[in-house]
Amino acid sequence: MSRRPLAQINTSALLHNVQIIRDLAPNCKILAVLKANAYGHGLLAVAAQLKDAQAFGVARIDEALMLRAGGIVKPIVLLEGFFHADELSQIVASNLQVVVHHMAQVDALVKAELESPIHVWLKIDSGMHRLGIAPDDFADAYQKLSKSPNVLQPMRLMTHFACADEPDHPATLQQLAVFKQTIGDAIGEISIANSAGVVGWPQSHGDWIRPGLALYGVSPMTAGRSAQHKLRPMMTFSSSVIAVRPVKKGDAVGYGATWIAPRDTRLAIVAIGYGDGYPRNAPCGTPVLINGVRYPIVGRVSMDMTTVDIGDAEIEHGAQVVLWGEQLPVEEIAELVQTIPYELLCNITSRVQFRYISD
Ligand SMILES: *Cc1c(COP(=O)(O)O)cnc(C)c1O
Repeated sequence: MSRRPLAQINTSALLHNVQIIRDLAPNCKILAVLKANAYGHGLLAVAAQLKDAQAFGVARIDEALMLRAGGIVKPIVLLEGFFHADELSQIVASNLQVVVHHMAQVDALVKAELESPIHVWLKIDSGMHRLGIAPDDFADAYQKLSKSPNVLQPMRLMTHFACADEPDHPATLQQLAVFKQTIGDAIGEISIANSAGVVGWPQSHGDWIRPGLALYGVSPMTAGRSAQHKLRPMMTFSSSVIAVRPVKKGDAVGYGATWIAPRDTRLAIVAIGYGDGYPRNAPCGTPVLINGVRYPIVGRVSMDMTTVDIGDAEIEHGAQVVLWGEQLPVEEIAELVQTIPYELLCNITSRVQFRYISD
């Protein structure tokens, strides 16, 4: 067992999760979302396993070019489109597809001189108010793009949910209604659902689903757990004990002396810290797993180390410590540190060793 912080990535879990997603949306094509280094799991390693996806989605052109450089030939969609018209020649050359979410992009694309036409996913703002063509501008955008020799026809029509992770939130049905009304009888395949849409809103499945988080085996629902959806976490994030020591009742532990031992006890010092992507704001009591048993962290998380109160448990120097993974849901850790699993997964730093396994 490695003594360094380790992100063990189980590719069998990924394939299992794809199957679960397929079963939830059996008639849909899958646009697998791989942005931010496949949510911290490793862009190319994940892409290479996703034979069952019809396309990949990334946020930025450099992510798409990394996939192409890595030998990935599947369709790749730039989820934020092009940032500047001078990227269009690269987009054509690398056979990328673009989301068009703004009238300025519509005009730039129509005006450009392209070697060959590209696939366009026309994005409508159905209520999130981040990216998307306003419903009032849709007809104009659709018209212009339909007539443009730069655009493969028919284009695809998409929108994105703001609140699909909350099963009873009224915004989701409103967004669906706005989207349907906006597109009317416009022709084109439809894509609406992120992971939460796939899991929680079957009426949003459309022609293409766009799962991200669920692929990696994490629940996309507020207060959800992967097991509820039969998903399996791909990542187990772990490190090891580098020292075990006693402390006396009243001893202060760690920076800021924020934790005072309430009794004589023993501490395991674990080689993990915010320099590895373990959250510094993890409060006292956040669980870790050692030999399959939960113990609470105490005191402040520092850059390279975290302290764990192990009482009189028999734990040895070198013991593996799981920070999150199959037996300790990252969703639970995210709740304790008041963030979302997405952020914890993305934040793992480059000094953490990655190991890919299958079972
Ligand atoms: C990130 C993203 C997704 C995937 O979202 P998940 O919640 O991870 O499933 C889908 N669509 C768009 C446009 C995105 O930016």
